[in-house]
Amino acid sequence: MAELQHILTAASEMKVEPTIFSADGHNIHQLKTFEFIVADRLVAQELVLLFEEHEVAGEGISPAIIAVTRPDTEALPTSHQPGCNFDGLLTFPMTGTQVRAQLSAIMYAHCAFAKRYSDAWRELQLNRRIFRSITAGISVASATVPDLPLVYVNPAFEEMTGYTRAEVQGRNCRFLEGNERHQPALAIVRDALAHRRKGVAVLKNFRKDGTPFWNELSLSPIMDDEGHLTHYVGIQTDVTKRVDLELALRESEKLAAVGRLASSIAHEINNPLTSVMNLNFLALSTDCSQETKNFLVTADRELKRVKLITEQSLRFFKQSTKAQSTSPSELLDPILDLYQSHASNAGVTTDVRERPSRPLVCMESEIRQVLSNLVSNAIYAMQEHGGQLSVRSRECGMWGNGREGVLFTVADTGTGMSAETLSCIYKAFFTTKGIGGTGLGLWISCEIIERHRGTIEVRSSQRPGASGTVFQLFLPYEGIASKTEVADLSRSLRSPSSTLRSVLEH
Ligand code: ADP
Ligand code: MG
Repeated sequence: MAELQHILTAASEMKVEPTIFSADGHNIHQLKTFEFIVADRLVAQELVLLFEEHEVAGEGISPAIIAVTRPDTEALPTSHQPGCNFDGLLTFPMTGTQVRAQLSAIMYAHCAFAKRYSDAWRELQLNRRIFRSITAGISVASATVPDLPLVYVNPAFEEMTGYTRAEVQGRNCRFLEGNERHQPALAIVRDALAHRRKGVAVLKNFRKDGTPFWNELSLSPIMDDEGHLTHYVGIQTDVTKRVDLELALRESEKLAAVGRLASSIAHEINNPLTSVMNLNFLALSTDCSQETKNFLVTADRELKRVKLITEQSLRFFKQSTKAQSTSPSELLDPILDLYQSHASNAGVTTDVRERPSRPLVCMESEIRQVLSNLVSNAIYAMQEHGGQLSVRSRECGMWGNGREGVLFTVADTGTGMSAETLSCIYKAFFTTKGIGGTGLGLWISCEIIERHRGTIEVRSSQRPGASGTVFQLFLPYEGIASKTEVADLSRSLRSPSSTLRSVLEH
C-alpha cells in the first residue's frame, strides 16, 4: 500500500493524472491513451505482449510499461528472458523520492524516444496502411532464415488464398502449389531466387478450399544497406480470368483454322467434281444399255449430293468480315441440312416452320455458329430417347422498345436443365458433357448476339413427361449495321442484282 501511495504522489508531482485499473479486462484503446503504466511484474509482462501484438498491427507508440518488483519475494527478470523488455523497473522497497526520481528518468528516456521516432513511426504506419489497402496480394519472406519462411502477408493475400496470416507465417510459399510441383513456370521462380534477381511467373495455385487459380507472382529481392539479401517480396495477382480467356481464344482460333481447312478442301473438291458431273452427263447421252443408264442416273444423284455438301461447307465456313443481308432461311437451312442425318440417327424428328421475313443484316457465319450450337445442343439433349426438334423463324417486334427483327426458336423435348445448370450455361467452360463438350458454345454465342444487339432467352423443364428446353433468339433487322448502312442496303436492293452483289461483297 505504501508503494501505491509513493507512485501516486510521484505521479501528481509529475503533473500526471493517475488512473487505477484492475488487472483483467484490458481495453487496449483505453490503455493506449496512458503515458505510462505501472504494474506488478506479471501484469506488466502481459501488457508488454499485448502492446507488441498491437504494434505489429501498426497502432502507434505504446505507453511506457514499468514493472514493480520485489527482490525479496520474486526473482528479478533479466533482460535475457523473453517478454520482459519493460521500459523501466521499480524495485521496492524504495522511498517516495527514489520512486519519483526513477519514474522521471524512465519517462524522460521514453519521451525522448517517442519524439525522435514519432516521424519514423508515422511513416511506418503509413507504409503498413498502404500494404494493408493494396488490392494485390503481398507476401514477404525472410531470406536470412533457411527455406524462406513467410513473415508477412497482407489482407489481399489472405482474401485471394483463403489462408490467414497466422496460418502462413513461418511456412514456405510453396504450399500454394498443392500437388503441382512441376509447373514449367517454377523454373522462373527458382532462377530468380538462385540469382537474387527479379522474376515474374504465372503459377497455378490452390486456395485453402482446394479451388485452383492462376497467380501472377512478381518476385523482388530486398537488400539491406550493406547489400546483403534480407527478404523477398512477392506481389500476387489473380489472373485466372485472363488465362481462361487466352485458352478460350486459342481454342476458337483452332476452330477457325479447322473451318478454313474444311473450306479449302471443299473448294478443291469442287472443280474435279464439276468435271465428273459433266462427264457423267455426257456418258448418259451416249448410246448405252438401260442398265448402264440406271447406274449413271444413280451416280448423278450421288454426285449432286456431294456437290450440295461441298457448297454448304463453303457457305458455312465463309468468313464474313462485313455485315451481309441474309434471309432467315438462308441462315437456317444449311444448318438443318447438316444436322439432318445426325438427328435421324438419334431418333429425333424435325419440325421446321419458317414464316417469310425481311432479310437481316448480320455477320452470316457468326449467326450460323449461334444457331448451329443451339441445334446441336438440342439434338444432344435428345440423343438418349429421341424426341422432337422444333425450329421456327418469324418477324417480330421486340416488346418494350419497338425494335423489329427476326425471332428464331429452337425447342427440344430432351432432358431439360436443372435450375443450377440453367444459372451456369452462359459461363465459359461450363459443360455437362464431360470431354464431349467445350462449354464455349453459348458463351461465344452471347458475345456474338450482344454485338448484333440481339437477345437470347431460355426456358427449360425437367418435369417427367414434359421435359425440354426452348431457346429464343431475337435479332433486330439493323442489329449490327448502322442505320445508314441499312438504308444503303435497302436502296441497293431495288437496283439490278449485279450492283447489289457488289455492295454486299464490300
Ligand atoms: P457445350 O455444348 O460444349 O457443353 P454450350 O455452351 O453449348 O457448351 O452449352 C453449355 C451447357 O448448357 C451444356 O453442357 C448443357 O448442360 C446445357 N445445355 C445447353 N443447351 C441445352 C439443351 N437444349 N438441353 C439441355 N441442356 C442444354
Ligand atoms: Mg454446345
